[in-house]
Amino acid sequence: MTQLPLRAQLASALGRTAATLSRATGRGDGSVIGGRVGLALEPDLLRKLARDRKLALVSATNGKTTTTRLITSALQELGDVATNAFGANMPAGHVSALSSAKHAPYGVLEVDEKYLPEVIDTTGAGVVVLMNLSRDQMDRAGEIWLLAQRWRRALAGKDTHVIANADDPLVTWGASTASRVTWVSAGQPWKEDSWCCPECGGPLDRKGMEYVPPGGHLSGVVISHTVDNDWACRECVFRRPEPTWFLDEDAAIDPRGQRWVLDIQLPGRANRANAVVALATAETFGVPVERALPRLREVTSVAGRYTTVQRDGRHARLLLAKNPAGWLEAFDVLDRALPVILSVNAQGPDGRDTSWLWDVDYRVLRGRQVFVTGERRLDLALRLDVAGVPFTLTDSFGEALAAQPPGKVDVIANYTAFQQIRSEFGRAV
Ligand SMILES: [Zn+2]
Repeated sequence: MTQLPLRAQLASALGRTAATLSRATGRGDGSVIGGRVGLALEPDLLRKLARDRKLALVSATNGKTTTTRLITSALQELGDVATNAFGANMPAGHVSALSSAKHAPYGVLEVDEKYLPEVIDTTGAGVVVLMNLSRDQMDRAGEIWLLAQRWRRALAGKDTHVIANADDPLVTWGASTASRVTWVSAGQPWKEDSWCCPECGGPLDRKGMEYVPPGGHLSGVVISHTVDNDWACRECVFRRPEPTWFLDEDAAIDPRGQRWVLDIQLPGRANRANAVVALATAETFGVPVERALPRLREVTSVAGRYTTVQRDGRHARLLLAKNPAGWLEAFDVLDRALPVILSVNAQGPDGRDTSWLWDVDYRVLRGRQVFVTGERRLDLALRLDVAGVPFTLTDSFGEALAAQPPGKVDVIANYTAFQQIRSEFGRAV
């Protein structure tokens, strides 16, 4: 894309070589090591690679990999798009993504929540997409209010266009210093991390169907949804901004009030929410809904999520759930008629502390056949026992799968458990 200075060209080329070597020796997809090599040789490489491109940065606790994929797909209507498709979401991964698509005029980068301020500053991205903030791995993630505060500082005084979920109070607060915001009502099923006003600490009121916002008018088609997701601080002026895009059951409603059925291939409410955010973002880049939506339908799986692995006539669909909000989303996708295998590890990327299992309401699994495995299966077993969910404990995923009759089964696994299943049973993406 850009005419890079010689040193940056060299750093970029050597980074790509390191990534190729890493792949060739079976050490992963190479995007992190390649980016690190590039940054070591030219610390300003990310800024140089980002210059002159139209970039969107995508951040959230849940759904950022999928939404990045959806936006990328939509923007391909316009031309080549650089992206970090495999979730390497820190600066080394961004360098790698932009290096490997040097001439792409567009870029969509998934960004770790903590790194977002730094990446906004370095890349000067014109568009930033913010979806949700909730508790993540207990022993690693920072306090989410502090994260939102850092977003506010990073966005203040810039002309960044933010696309943000108005139904998440903390995201709203994090986005509201931006000079321009497109508010999307994308829903917020997990509310346990936002009962207090981020501005003043007062209680947040969430109103039921009978509630009509003071002085507010509710426009026809979206009345129930608007009311369902409304929130306001009881003690200060901080309240939900008026969205222009809505997720309404199985459809997106655009700023003209037009309803678009989200007949996408990715399953579940969370993915329909991701799709509405992707449509709003695509429109910001000049891609209208009628051109973006067919592109979203082409996405069938994202970095292994929702793919099926097979063995001996058993077809296991893989769902990833890394934190309490993610488990709620996965429950929503489960096929009610099928058994489910749950696998939990507690390695570094999962967080060592499994106390978050106690934040998830597992009672929705009552009445299903539940199989429990993973390195921390006993932690999960105790949690299910207390919730009154009968289950079968198995020593491995293979054993749990073999215990199924031939046919379909759903699987929910956290990060390294998910990766173990994929590497043992097939890495189809
Ligand atoms: Zn308040």
